Amino acid sequence: MSKKHNFSAGPCILPQEVFEKSAAAILDFNGIGLSLLEISHRSKDFVPVMDEARAIVKRLMKLGDDYEVLYLGGGASLQFVMVPFNLMKLENGKAAYLDTGTWAAGAIKEGKKMGTVDIVGSSKEKNYSFIPKNYSVGSEYDYFHCTSNNTIYGTQMKEFPKVDTLMVCDMSSDIFSRVIDFSQFDLIYAGAQKNMGPAGTTLVVVKKEILGKTGRDIPSYLDYSLQIAKESMFNTPPVFPVYASLLTLQHLENNGGIEAAEKRNIDKAALLYAEIDRNPLFETFCEKEDRSLMNVSFKLLDDSKKEEFDTAWKEAGINGLNGHRSLGGYRASTYNALPIESVQVLVDVMKNLN
Ligand code: PMP
Repeated sequence: MSKKHNFSAGPCILPQEVFEKSAAAILDFNGIGLSLLEISHRSKDFVPVMDEARAIVKRLMKLGDDYEVLYLGGGASLQFVMVPFNLMKLENGKAAYLDTGTWAAGAIKEGKKMGTVDIVGSSKEKNYSFIPKNYSVGSEYDYFHCTSNNTIYGTQMKEFPKVDTLMVCDMSSDIFSRVIDFSQFDLIYAGAQKNMGPAGTTLVVVKKEILGKTGRDIPSYLDYSLQIAKESMFNTPPVFPVYASLLTLQHLENNGGIEAAEKRNIDKAALLYAEIDRNPLFETFCEKEDRSLMNVSFKLLDDSKKEEFDTAWKEAGINGLNGHRSLGGYRASTYNALPIESVQVLVDVMKNLN
């Protein structure tokens, strides 16, 4: 069976080399006569995997020793909880959140359980079709939380605000996809299952000096300081997702790093948006200036063409083009590992729809 053009929003396409190497490691890890899945996470064979998986993140992000890297379980959703637990003051805790989509709203919901949450900007009333701008965040807040890319609505923050407090960012759906000054953030987190690897681990990058200042007694697993002290091995880590994430990041590093990935991502998005803008049958859900380079969410303007379009893209070997159930329409996720040839196949299908 030939490989499909996989536009899935996550879990999603990873480099073919990662599939092959991680499959081989399940059968025989580095020629040791054992599977990656049957060795101790504390063995001399696995510890270097975790060490390198942490180190490569700092290299790719060009961050120094003031940051720590963690691989945790629980998905980005657990970070919705861990962030306020670790950063919101026990007494009169107060945080500012930017409400740009379903996942941002999920983070807000958990933050509210821990203290006061002020929503400093929201596009909810307009179905999250733009990124709010022109807000300010003062020093009265313990931290500011934003979502760099809104996976469902197809919007992306092109710039990040200057705030007078700590800046926390959920980068689950565009991490390692574009050149950013990562040092402007105090804490970054991302579920691995898009640009980084398979589902099952979550990356956390945190500036050490911000921790331990809330007065809260934090449950052990949820305590970043403890996780740092234990080098992401407080409990048994998700060994396979960490290994496959390492392979993905090595692939990125060996192929020009984030700079080269960004160029490829810009080209892919430009190709697809050009067709959406040219073709009177299609339209994006969001404002042009906030369009995402990773998740191209769009709709068909003539419902009578739906069956023909759906049949055509499936026949062209395309997978995962249906929009999120909350928005409908279509979503082409063009993550790092998706080749531009797949985008061209989709564009050709769109062109042929009259
Ligand atoms: N944040 C964003 C931006 C996401 O896209 C997602 C999932 N797609 C999440 C958070 C939730 O991630 P998880 O399923 O790892 O909890």
